[in-house]
Amino acid sequence: MSDGDVGTIKFLARDLPEIPTEKIAERVASRFGLEGDWQSLEGERDQVLRLDADSGRYVVRVSNVAELPRVVDFHVKALLHIETHAPDLPVPRVVPMIDGGFVDSMKSGDHSHLVRLVTYLPGRPLREAPTEEKAQLRTRLGATLATFGLAMRGFFHEAASNEHPWDIMRSPQLTDHTRHITDSTVRTGVEEVLQQFSGHVLPGIGSLRHQVIHQDAHGGNVLVDNGSVSGLIDFGDMVWGPLPSEIAIAADPAWSDGDPVGALCDVVAGFDATYPLEEPEVAVLFDLVLARVAATLTIEAARQARSSDQRSAAEGIDRYAGLLDELLRLDRSTVDRRLREVGRFAPTWPSPSSTDLVKRRRAHLGAMAPHFYDQPLHVERGDGVWLYAPDGTAYLDFYNNVPQVGHNHPHVVNAISRQAATLNTNTRYLLEGVVAYAERLTGLLGPGLDACLFVNSGSEANDVALQIARFATNQGGTIVMEGAYHGVTAATRQLSTGDDDIEAVAHIAELMVPDPYRGPYMAEDAGAAAKYAADVDRALGELMSHGNDLAAFIVDTAMCSNGIPSIPAGYFADVEKRVRAGGGLVIADEVQAGLGRTGQWWGHELHGLKPDIVTMGKPIGNGHPLGVVVTSAELLEPFMARTRLFSTFGGNPVAAAAGMAVIDVIEREHLIAKANDTGAYLRDELGRVQTDHPLIGDVRGWGMIIGVEFVTDRELRTPAMNQTHQLIELMKSNGVLVGSAGQRGNVLKIRPPLVAERAHADRFIEAMAASLAAVGEPGIP
Ligand code: PMP
Repeated sequence: MSDGDVGTIKFLARDLPEIPTEKIAERVASRFGLEGDWQSLEGERDQVLRLDADSGRYVVRVSNVAELPRVVDFHVKALLHIETHAPDLPVPRVVPMIDGGFVDSMKSGDHSHLVRLVTYLPGRPLREAPTEEKAQLRTRLGATLATFGLAMRGFFHEAASNEHPWDIMRSPQLTDHTRHITDSTVRTGVEEVLQQFSGHVLPGIGSLRHQVIHQDAHGGNVLVDNGSVSGLIDFGDMVWGPLPSEIAIAADPAWSDGDPVGALCDVVAGFDATYPLEEPEVAVLFDLVLARVAATLTIEAARQARSSDQRSAAEGIDRYAGLLDELLRLDRSTVDRRLREVGRFAPTWPSPSSTDLVKRRRAHLGAMAPHFYDQPLHVERGDGVWLYAPDGTAYLDFYNNVPQVGHNHPHVVNAISRQAATLNTNTRYLLEGVVAYAERLTGLLGPGLDACLFVNSGSEANDVALQIARFATNQGGTIVMEGAYHGVTAATRQLSTGDDDIEAVAHIAELMVPDPYRGPYMAEDAGAAAKYAADVDRALGELMSHGNDLAAFIVDTAMCSNGIPSIPAGYFADVEKRVRAGGGLVIADEVQAGLGRTGQWWGHELHGLKPDIVTMGKPIGNGHPLGVVVTSAELLEPFMARTRLFSTFGGNPVAAAAGMAVIDVIEREHLIAKANDTGAYLRDELGRVQTDHPLIGDVRGWGMIIGVEFVTDRELRTPAMNQTHQLIELMKSNGVLVGSAGQRGNVLKIRPPLVAERAHADRFIEAMAASLAAVGEPGIP
């Protein structure tokens, strides 16, 4: 091997200094003022000695001749940084010289070597710990490295990005040296790993979190004592590198006792609990382990090829060759599943089979727990307008009105996790975030809607709203829309007259739905609004005939369960007048319509209704449980004085953070304007589809809440129930999720996340056209 050959990567040389101990002892005595018993220790590239002095034990490191002063300065500064920022971390302390400096330089022959001292740490190497203690020790090592990592986030040194042999990011350079691996099978394995790594893994690693990492925390450089990590030593391999490398190296398969993935999981568990890992970081861990083993084999083989440096290389090569073989035989999907589980990320394929999950669900959630589809849809992940099945199939989610700003919006996710990591209590404490949210939310509502009461769901919000109205009026009568849905509590179920099992009760009267498509007064009828509104007087009479006076009129301002009818202009103002004349309060249920869904902040705003109480749920937390009742202080105070109502989780700081973040996104991303734009575009496109498909009787809605009514006969407006059901199933097969509404189940309800773009609307239309073409074909249920 020529000099030039090794020169390309000079680290392949060891060239350990071999200075007589007496000479070093003399120098240390004069510069550091320390004397004692000396002993040589093993070093990879430095001459390392132990000094037992009266004041304690020290490690003396005499650098390789090739070591640059700035690299030694980097190591010294890093240790000093830890001393300040993570004083409890068990790492050596740098020992100053008599003159206050930390690095000495001594001559040996023609060469000069840098000399420094650090304190000696007690304990024995982790790799020598009893097998039964290793798993726990590895987890503790993970935690130690996480603390180290957190401390080093704010540290940088120019030498941190120096070329370094073990820098995983430079591993493609090692390909030039694989020829030194004599066993051709091993060599091929190493080359394949390096090739796969540089071609497919490395490009993605660049975008992972980088910082100064120890890069050598294997079982030989970690000391343990009494079941805990007592020392992290040897900082000679520190580099600016990808965070997950730290873990991959610490989980050295050579000390894994036959389960390298288990060892990796142990370290991940400890690390992640202190310094949470990100999903792409977990995804590359195993590749990093493979690359590190391939690098070890190559470096050892290249070193062995240098005649002067045969030490233990052959043994190391054999051990790592066996390990590489073992790692390459592992089933990659099992490896990934174990790692994702320990990182608590949703599993990737293969996840439990859907059939098996259906059985388990039936066993523990009951056979009647409702599914959306004939064939239950198994989803694993969401992102914006998309939901993903375990096999990666993407579904455009135009059904779900809960993820208002898109599934897993990062701003909302971050707000929730940051708050969860800071404080989660309840509204009985003085909490800035909760008050700020109440201020922000009420700022989006009209005058007189300025006091919030926090609960956890739309049902609870409606239940409490009803209690407030009944308390304020001292009456019990309630007017609801025929076929309404308002929740799951005992009181709100009675209001949910659209549910089959709900029997009429004397204190609740149902109002005729103002549906110009299907009701008695059509769109062309200029007096339709007043005629529908006049039904309030009939309902009042009905209540009074049973001895009930009016407490409230409650309405879902999008009338979603009524099939999103085109409520005639002026209807709500007229209804409100009559309700007030009857002594009742107005409750706007904004669980469906609120927070921009209709292209305005609130459905009541869109329809010119002025409620006394507004209820909110579903979208306001983008999926995080949150329900709010907003009313006036005049209505809330006396009610609270009497009831002292309090919901433990209602409006807790995490829920408030979610709510606040959702408003942030709607405002910052101009989602109300987008709801109007994409919504209008989608309605136009649906209108176009309607011309070709007689099944479509009506297209309507506002903003991003759209109803498409299906009829078998456009003249007679005969509801096409089966066809609507078929269409929904077909659309699922075509990768689009949508639901049905209306008392006859023949209205497609389309409620995309407000982030949906025109291109998503195009995708929806495409799937709808394809599905419509197949409706009624034999074999379609
Ligand atoms: N009101 C309306 C108009 C709703 O659509 C719903 C839920 N579908 C509720 C109230 C009840 O909300 P939750 O399921 O959060 O209790």
